[in-house]
Amino acid sequence: MAELNSRNIKLAVQKEGRLTAETLEFLRNSGLQFESYKQKLFSLCRNFPLEILYVRDDDIPDYVEKGIVDLGIVGLNILNEKKPKAKKLLSLNYGFCSLVIAVPKESNINSIKDLKGKTIATSYPQSSKDYFKKNGISVELVEISGSVEITPALGIAQAIVDLTSSGSTMALNDLKLLTKIYDSESVLVANEASLTNGRKVLIDKLLTRFNGVLAAKNYKYVMMNAPVEILPNVIKIVPGLKSPTVAPLAKKGWISIQTVIKEDVFWETIEKLKEAGAQGIIILPIEKIII
Ligand code: ATP
Ligand code: MG
Repeated sequence: MAELNSRNIKLAVQKEGRLTAETLEFLRNSGLQFESYKQKLFSLCRNFPLEILYVRDDDIPDYVEKGIVDLGIVGLNILNEKKPKAKKLLSLNYGFCSLVIAVPKESNINSIKDLKGKTIATSYPQSSKDYFKKNGISVELVEISGSVEITPALGIAQAIVDLTSSGSTMALNDLKLLTKIYDSESVLVANEASLTNGRKVLIDKLLTRFNGVLAAKNYKYVMMNAPVEILPNVIKIVPGLKSPTVAPLAKKGWISIQTVIKEDVFWETIEKLKEAGAQGIIILPIEKIII
């Protein structure tokens, strides 16, 4: 059992919210063992010198910058908003959303130029300020801490800047999308000093695990049988992360080929392999890839 001591590295994650379940799943997929339940303030990993602290997501940038924690997992949107002095290490491939400008459906605002002089409600004043400044449009920003989407109906604002993922909350509130300010996903950030002091070794070990899980998501393991003469063709078709494994089959003139295929070209690659003469193609998920 790891001990609670100053040699542990500390990671802050969202205590309760949209990122919590996927963050804990990502950490467990990375081989970290810990207990977590709602009332818990922190968990101690059983098999790695890591403490996981559960906090409000808005507090994570500040905790990372001040070194209260070495690492944090938080939405890129919160980093864009708070601009902490911290280093972004990895994009984690979940928690996708966008910061957008939306207006009431029946509004005659059709472009961002029409927003000049208008009142805009948001929980993202810094991101909004940056955006309108960059685009040379002067607007009146009103900071609201929650339920920004109802402010146009209440007559508080003529437009909003808010996060959306599916757009369903917007539609529910009779709002239409005007434009996107930025895309966001969950990211891993680090305190800058932690990357230069004795904790770096442990952080690097964690990064190897995290990268292993992320890389595995992008590849599938494939086994197939093929006549030996098509091997050069197969090698051409499969863009290699690693050289394919080739073994003879009991059937004369036939081989078994094992390789990995990238997720984004997966089906087109399988079709090409079939056309080239591969048979009995077996596809397996990969747990981790250590490059
Ligand atoms: P906390 O109590 O920790 O401050 P919160 O209410 O501010 O939580 P959540 O609504 O749980 O935050 O959202 C956490 C993060 O989830 C956001 O900062 C964003 O990165 C991400 N996210 C993904 N999809 C959405 C969405 N549709 N709306 C809002 N946030 C989203
Ligand atoms: Mg928050």
